[in-house]
Amino acid sequence: MRDYLKIEINHLLGSLLIFIPIGYLLQQIPVAIALAFIAYFSKHAYYLTKLAYLINQGARIDPPYPADIWGLIYKELSRFRSRSRKRKRTLSRFASRFRKVTSSIPDGLILLNKSAGIEWANPAANQLLNISWPRDENTPLSEHIKHEELSEYLKNPDYSKPLELPSPTNKAVIISLRVTPFGGKKAQRLVVARDITDVYKLNQTRRDFVSNVSHELRTPLTVIAGYLENLSDNDMLPFQERPFTLMVQQADRMNSIINDLLTLSRLELGRAASAEKPVAIPELLRRIIDQAQLLAEQKGGYKITLDVNDSLWLLGEESELMSAFSNLVFNAIIHSPPGTEITVTWLRLENEACLTVTDTGPGIEERHIPRLTERFYRVDKARSRQSGGTGLGLAIVKHIIGRHDGELRISSQLGVGSSFTCAFPEEVTLNKPLTAPDKEEAVNSANDEQPELTHSSPE
Ligand code: ADP
Repeated sequence: MRDYLKIEINHLLGSLLIFIPIGYLLQQIPVAIALAFIAYFSKHAYYLTKLAYLINQGARIDPPYPADIWGLIYKELSRFRSRSRKRKRTLSRFASRFRKVTSSIPDGLILLNKSAGIEWANPAANQLLNISWPRDENTPLSEHIKHEELSEYLKNPDYSKPLELPSPTNKAVIISLRVTPFGGKKAQRLVVARDITDVYKLNQTRRDFVSNVSHELRTPLTVIAGYLENLSDNDMLPFQERPFTLMVQQADRMNSIINDLLTLSRLELGRAASAEKPVAIPELLRRIIDQAQLLAEQKGGYKITLDVNDSLWLLGEESELMSAFSNLVFNAIIHSPPGTEITVTWLRLENEACLTVTDTGPGIEERHIPRLTERFYRVDKARSRQSGGTGLGLAIVKHIIGRHDGELRISSQLGVGSSFTCAFPEEVTLNKPLTAPDKEEAVNSANDEQPELTHSSPE
């Protein structure tokens, strides 16, 4: 830079050296100095005008460059322009490759802006959802997909589960919409629409098949069970007694399996149960423990303890929750020897409400744990059958908890015991609605400065 400053000073001095002697001879020194400055600034005006012209024409700024500060400006500008030309070429190559790739993807891709308006879409989005870009740019997604759950789904920041809906172009086609937020503050979203008709139909066929078979088997089984009950009133020869007992046991078992299969089909078909009705979980757990005590006594005695937060309720379907929780408590008795300690807790832990059934039973080997909620999966098939298990209990529990937006967590250690936790998010929990006597009690207890209502009852 300093070199260029020197060059400029030299140019100005050179101009003065030429004009001042002439001015001296003509006795017009001030005019000569003014002319020297004019000559010097004319050079700058010339190069500035030339540069403006080249920029305006979009022409290349090629060498030779002037040997002064303008040379530096011209050279740097030329280098900057060639760099940006290269960058533009790379970008346009990338954009054309991106367009080719997104055009060949069979899934519909749609970019949504902050206000859920369409920013861009690939050609498959046109086929699946009748969304064409740029035709539909800036129009809201809900204008193209008329589905009651869509706007609610887009508002919800939890996109872990996809939304399944019929395609607006062909109702026979089932689409799965998966949303991924991205960009600053994750305000923009990428929607991936996939045709899942085959999987959907396969699942539906499986569900219908299981449900139909269960219904079809139920009628003949009811007839057989009815005859068996009538026969039990008659006297039997000694050699008939054992086969008869086995027939009754097996008919009962089949009935349990059919009932569990029908329960599973019903759960699979139904919509999420959350936000339905307030359910008094503490009271429901006490009922389950009362029933469990009867089985525990029959099996030889277990130590069952219950620790509940009395003010913690859930929003949901009471019969389903009753079935899930009793399954876990009864499993702890059925799959453990007499004398086992079973603890049932219902507490608020961090930002979840957790129902945990812990036992000091035989425990489960780690490799079985991920598969326990599969239908008919048993650790010990023979023992489970003997104890009257259908192998569907935990599958039902998982479904019910999922329908209440919760999660089933299993941990176990061989020889130490098992722990089954149903964890529910804050949104489906509620504090016990206060009744009139409760309100009175709450005022009294506030006056007495008593701690929060937490009940812990022994077996
Ligand atoms: P089942 O009708 O056999 O009880 P489940 O689906 O309820 O079917 O349970 C699957 C398997 O998980 C059971 O067969 C058993 O092997 C194992 N299991 C469930 N609960 C316990 C428990 N508390 N302790 C040990 N094993 C258990």
